[in-house]
Amino acid sequence: MTILYEHDSALRHVTPPGHPEQVARIEAIRHTLDDDRFSALDRREAPMGDRADILRCHPEDYVARVEASIPAEGIRSLDADTHVSSGSLEAAMRGVGACCAAVDAVLAGEAKNAFVAMRPPGHHAETATAMGFCLFGNAAIAATHALDVNGLSRVAVLDFDVHHGNGTQDLLWNEERTLFASSHQMPLYPGSGHPHETGAYDNVMNVPLAPMTGGVEMKKAWGDMILPAVDDFAPELIIISAGFDAHAADPLANLNWSTDDFAWVTAAICDVADAHAQGRVVSTLEGGYDLNALAASVAAHVRVLMERDG
Ligand SMILES: [Zn+2]
Repeated sequence: MTILYEHDSALRHVTPPGHPEQVARIEAIRHTLDDDRFSALDRREAPMGDRADILRCHPEDYVARVEASIPAEGIRSLDADTHVSSGSLEAAMRGVGACCAAVDAVLAGEAKNAFVAMRPPGHHAETATAMGFCLFGNAAIAATHALDVNGLSRVAVLDFDVHHGNGTQDLLWNEERTLFASSHQMPLYPGSGHPHETGAYDNVMNVPLAPMTGGVEMKKAWGDMILPAVDDFAPELIIISAGFDAHAADPLANLNWSTDDFAWVTAAICDVADAHAQGRVVSTLEGGYDLNALAASVAAHVRVLMERDG
């Protein structure tokens, strides 16, 4: 059955009052996943990340800089959006650890798929730059772990967060064993993600979506463009950067996806995973800032993962 990775450290990464990437996001998700409908989930504690896994994507001096930035108390700003508190390093390290443990568990056949409900998110963290609420590139780290530790040859990282996953793109730009594909609103933060950004080996695919578009356009982007490319790539594992801020209710962006749209895209990704990767999917939480929409969308996403793992 679907594995759920969580840890209380995700509640101890504290951001300034009013910040959208807040502790309450995890509380909302937990409240929802505590419902009886999710009692079959295989719940596991997120383990601490292995430094060697991080160093495959980020240089030593960057990791040292993040470590040195952690305040003993209060909140410190790394940029206008990105903040750390005393609990942030453990939360980020357990996010990395959970993503890599999820890869190990899924590849060992313990489950077909897994969801990592941790924060801070990861897809904006570039090689040597924390940004966009993110410290370490969880999805890219999990992908390179699957390649170098588990010995896979092809891993796809698919990102449906409303913001472009500039960090994942940066970390995997020169990695021809990965396909990184993203749909995202444009124009929007961080400003990257144009279709002409295709990676060093044609291994990056960006499909921008116009503001105010919804499920019809999303299904075209994924059904006609992204998923056929993933099908051609034939990944042995799919990692999802699962951001839920394309929801119509989200305060940070202007796409109009419904909760059902997240279920649709999840099922469509699972179809490709079934065709090439024995159904193996590791999904990690990125954005999603309207608490009710986030909880409902995560529930829809995890329901589909559970149905596929039945
Ligand atoms: Zn986002």
